[in-house]
Amino acid sequence: MDIHQRDDLRFPQSLPDFLRLFPDNEACVVYLLKLRWRGGFVCPYCASVGDPLRFSSRPSVLRCRKCRRNTGLTVGTVMQRSHTPLNVWFWAAYLVTSQTPGVSAVQLQRQLGISRYETAFQILHKLRAGMVRPDQDRIGGKANEHVEVDESYVGGRTRGKGRGVHGKVIVATAVEVRQRKPGTKLDKRKGGRYAGRVRLAVVPDRSGKSLRSFVEGSVMPGTKIVTDDWGGYDGLTKRGYDHIAVAERGDHQIAEEYMPIIHLVFANLKTWLMGTHHGVSHQHLQTYLNEFTFRFNRRFYPFNAFRSLLGIAGDVAAPTYAELYSGEWSHPSRFR
Ligand SMILES: [Zn+2]
Repeated sequence: MDIHQRDDLRFPQSLPDFLRLFPDNEACVVYLLKLRWRGGFVCPYCASVGDPLRFSSRPSVLRCRKCRRNTGLTVGTVMQRSHTPLNVWFWAAYLVTSQTPGVSAVQLQRQLGISRYETAFQILHKLRAGMVRPDQDRIGGKANEHVEVDESYVGGRTRGKGRGVHGKVIVATAVEVRQRKPGTKLDKRKGGRYAGRVRLAVVPDRSGKSLRSFVEGSVMPGTKIVTDDWGGYDGLTKRGYDHIAVAERGDHQIAEEYMPIIHLVFANLKTWLMGTHHGVSHQHLQTYLNEFTFRFNRRFYPFNAFRSLLGIAGDVAAPTYAELYSGEWSHPSRFR
């Protein structure tokens, strides 16, 4: 069953709502228990059913009443091995995903009343690791949607005046273009079109080789793709795409007419990079592009973003036997 249809795993709609749902560590334990074992705890070792024994000193440990073996509730999640209460993790993930530009370690420390800066920094670091892992699957592939592809220079921060080109990197971008239902409130803007998912990558140059390999890695074959008439996009038809090259010739009107969404994405990206990070260095740009992609692709789905940062998104099934044994908390020998 889809998690969004489970009333017992509701996602908070506001900060007060969040505090009601996850007031303390125990509320989060109960949430994780329900997420993993919908019909109640089942021991992964002996398969017996029934409430496990719990220990106040180790709130994430569940001990089977029958075989007496321990199961770690947070094994396989970002919270594994952490001494920070689960509700602090939940809160941090909520802040990181619900605030569009993100949150700094200092802000997190202050807002959550975390005594040590290092703790806040570690939490944020681990949560961000989930954001900067690139989305792997290719976009497009739907008959009623097309994908706009373009490349743009993005300014990086320049330090010193050594060798090499300073300040500019080429970022290739692909974005799904979706159509709003006629009669809805926003269907007049941009012809009712809006952005679906994006893919962004730093490319070495604007050559056909670079741009085609970006497209092949980012967009499903068979997709209708709209680009400008730059020669670098020649050959996409031969590679199985339904390619439409629009002659922009620097004409803003034509660009706005045929590729409105990708220019919006570039504008958002540049604003975000400048505003939040005051520009970023070249070697970190792809990491920031991945974070931008994570936030952009989940902007309508805060629940998914929240769960994937905590590492509780994937399957709702119990951890595997191997996972149980790799987690030091859950290793039975520790408690003998
Ligand atoms: Zn058991």
